[in-house]
Amino acid sequence: MECQYNAFLLRYHEIAIKGNNRRMFENKLIDSIRRLLKEIDHLRIINQRGRIIVHLKEWATFSEEELSIAIEGLTKCFGLESFSPVVCVKTDMETIEETVAKTFDVAYNAFSKKNNGGEIRYRMRARRSLKSFPLKSKELEIHFANILLQKYDKLRVDLENAELTIGLEVRDKNSFVWFDSYKGPGGLPIGSSGSLMTLLSGGIDSPVACYTAMKRGSQCSFITFHSHPYTPPTSISKVAQIANVINSFQRKQPLLACNLAPAQKAIRDNCSERFRTILYRRMMMRIASVVADWHNDGALLTGESLGQVASQTLENMTVINSSTEKLILRPLVCYDKNEAIALSRKMGVFELSSIDVPDSCTIFAPGNPATKAKLHFVIQEENKLDVKKLVRECLQQTTQVDLETYEMNPDESLQIYVEGLTDEQLYC
Ligand code: ATP
Ligand code: MG
Repeated sequence: MECQYNAFLLRYHEIAIKGNNRRMFENKLIDSIRRLLKEIDHLRIINQRGRIIVHLKEWATFSEEELSIAIEGLTKCFGLESFSPVVCVKTDMETIEETVAKTFDVAYNAFSKKNNGGEIRYRMRARRSLKSFPLKSKELEIHFANILLQKYDKLRVDLENAELTIGLEVRDKNSFVWFDSYKGPGGLPIGSSGSLMTLLSGGIDSPVACYTAMKRGSQCSFITFHSHPYTPPTSISKVAQIANVINSFQRKQPLLACNLAPAQKAIRDNCSERFRTILYRRMMMRIASVVADWHNDGALLTGESLGQVASQTLENMTVINSSTEKLILRPLVCYDKNEAIALSRKMGVFELSSIDVPDSCTIFAPGNPATKAKLHFVIQEENKLDVKKLVRECLQQTTQVDLETYEMNPDESLQIYVEGLTDEQLYC
């Protein structure tokens, strides 16, 4: 169908029930739209009581290229329920009739070619939000059915199994006609629920955790743990590529890379083998908590899932929790692996996550890890270490990963921040 669309009509749902905060939510949603569609020049965004309208300067029609950029971008826009490319005209019966006639003709002919001139089942979905408009929603549908059925002899009304649906929304100033609706990801606009420091591994689960958190309005920044020289540089570049996919949904957030090897070696050399993984995790949580404070993130985020591996039992998660006073969000805690994989595919990160690269957690991993650790035993083991010194050492070996070149650069501001912290502020 040749492009005749001069606007997009965006629908949202949950924001609408936010009472006094509604304006804040709408502004965040508009920020997201602007960011996701930044490649389109001369974009205008109108917030109009329960709907957002996106159009070009002077209501120019979208080119095919702009149309596909907009569809791809809006499909990633958390907070949107659905959206349609539309023909937007001024609200007046004669203009609406002309627009329906013209656009329907294009859609009908395109469809008719596809089904070789056979019967076409159609329906109209009309909605009148301008209460003073002379025809109500149902009456609009009947009015246009009379016109269209008379004009096209192969056309039938079929409310249940329509092949061609025409949408019409009559609003105060403007009215909209469309043929296609796309699903948005739903949820809340990013930034409306603060920001999180994600413990991002190269696996499947942690990027999916980010997707679910972004869907609830949280922005995700990232820290990954490697074990140089025991893990290869590809373990970091892989995570950087994953961070780039996650960043395509949100305003670009940094990735920090921390070398956990000093702590892991000390744990290997001093503590009972069975508790290694739990002790690694407690170190990770402390380090991530400091970095979260530095970056002003309100909580930590992980891809842990109940029962998935030894460290993810209720007992072990309880012991891991007690290493930090920060809130740890584990949105996948009750997900099945298949559910996580489905979301990973939807995000477009599954292939990347599936590449096999050694993870920091597997370095010196015990053959028989504790699955029901008791806090006092773990603390007994931890007391054999100089935790404060190790946390500082790992933080000193925490760098920024350049998300284009994957190079690791020192971060001066983080180092100054860490130098100024007391041992207690290191969550030790
Ligand atoms: P998968 O389970 O798909 O292999 P995963 O990312 O869930 O990948 P797990 O070993 O199950 O890996 O780890 C549980 C969680 O711990 C991860 O989701 C992540 O949040 C965190 N994590 C594990 N390893 C690392 C790491 N090297 N750097 C940062 N976070 C990590
Ligand atoms: Mg996992």
